[in-house]
Amino acid sequence: MTADPRLEKPSIVAMHVRSGLVGLNVVTAALDADPRTAGSDVRFVKDAAGMIDALRDATSDGRRALALWSFYSPDFAAAAKDLAEVKEATGDAALHLAGGVHATAEPLATLRDGGFDLVAIGEGEHTMVAITDALANGRDPRDLPGTAHLDKTSGRLVSHGPGERHPLDAYPPFNARYRKWNALEITRGCVYACSFCQTPYMFKARFRHRSVADVRRHIDQMRECGSRFVRFLTPTSLSYGSPDTTPDLDAVDALLATVREGAGAEAKIFFGTFPSEIRPEHITPRALEIIARWCDNRTLVIGGQSGSDRVLEQTRRGHSVDDVVRAVELCVKAGFRPDVDFLLGLPGEEESDRALSMELAERLVTMGARIHSHAFMPLPGTPLRDATPSPIEPETMLAMARLESKGKAYGQWRRQVVTAEALVRSRRARTA
Ligand code: SF4
Repeated sequence: MTADPRLEKPSIVAMHVRSGLVGLNVVTAALDADPRTAGSDVRFVKDAAGMIDALRDATSDGRRALALWSFYSPDFAAAAKDLAEVKEATGDAALHLAGGVHATAEPLATLRDGGFDLVAIGEGEHTMVAITDALANGRDPRDLPGTAHLDKTSGRLVSHGPGERHPLDAYPPFNARYRKWNALEITRGCVYACSFCQTPYMFKARFRHRSVADVRRHIDQMRECGSRFVRFLTPTSLSYGSPDTTPDLDAVDALLATVREGAGAEAKIFFGTFPSEIRPEHITPRALEIIARWCDNRTLVIGGQSGSDRVLEQTRRGHSVDDVVRAVELCVKAGFRPDVDFLLGLPGEEESDRALSMELAERLVTMGARIHSHAFMPLPGTPLRDATPSPIEPETMLAMARLESKGKAYGQWRRQVVTAEALVRSRRARTA
């Protein structure tokens, strides 16, 4: 034990709520994957009061504390409010580190408006290890690559660029030590460049896949620990193993076969469902046959987004309305129920486009699909970050409500309209 408690490994407390759960599981698991930080203790808390108690407890012996926060853009305001409460109660007891897609896209606003001390930019696993190691050795983490902070004198942003990217196999996909399971990330980054989506801008416009052997290793670990539900995290499910836009179904087959073998016959395996989806043009009879052979889900989430080819082209979706219809047809024929994602209120979308979307939605419902509805949000880091959502007229709202009342549509689009308005307001305030 070192004489100076400030040179012990820092006490780490993670705000384990909302959209930050998976990111925090993964970066805290990364600590055990590196000999410099292996064995670091982490406490997971659920609210500001929990964070206050944990920080007081953690620093009572003079040790340094590192508080971890991660959130998507719609949760930024709530996280900043929690942080203000924590800082009021604990002062500068901890270094408050924010990571995730919002902090990466908006480091200045995260530090200045949110009140965080340090931001981790881009992929967090390697940066998390480096920060923890720096604190344990009395070095200033503000100088590390992958971080950004505000200069104390000028208040300007000092950024050291994005964190190092490593192969997915280099770090675990969940935190087994603390039994923090989540959907297993099999692919990171995306070769598509849909203009409303943060994924390709956060992780680069190319795929990196976790190897089949590494997935199996983690499936075996889950089984040993009694975890029987397997889900996957990927930008586009049937792109597993592929370097480009053409699916590699042999790779998908090999992946799911070993997952089933490792998880056992009694495990529940879900592929192509929440929190991931399948691109419509990737659906083929063979793809459906592979999923049916190895997996338990008989629902599939398909990214449809719009009934207007003009809007699909404008947002660079890379598929057509006909692709969506064909995908639904094939799914139903193969005994799957397709849940088709729709995105309303895209910038440049006109009333006639939304009418086409609702026509398509009704047609797909007749064919056997359900509609999963979303409203466009101008997310930081995307090409549409400065765009204003198109207003959704009462006729469209009514049509969506009719489908919902019949149990044929569901989704958070009303709440997302409110979030989109808040994002536009905060952007205007920042610009002003
Ligand atoms: S919406 Fe899906 S396919 Fe498009 S860029 Fe995002 S993750 Fe990739």
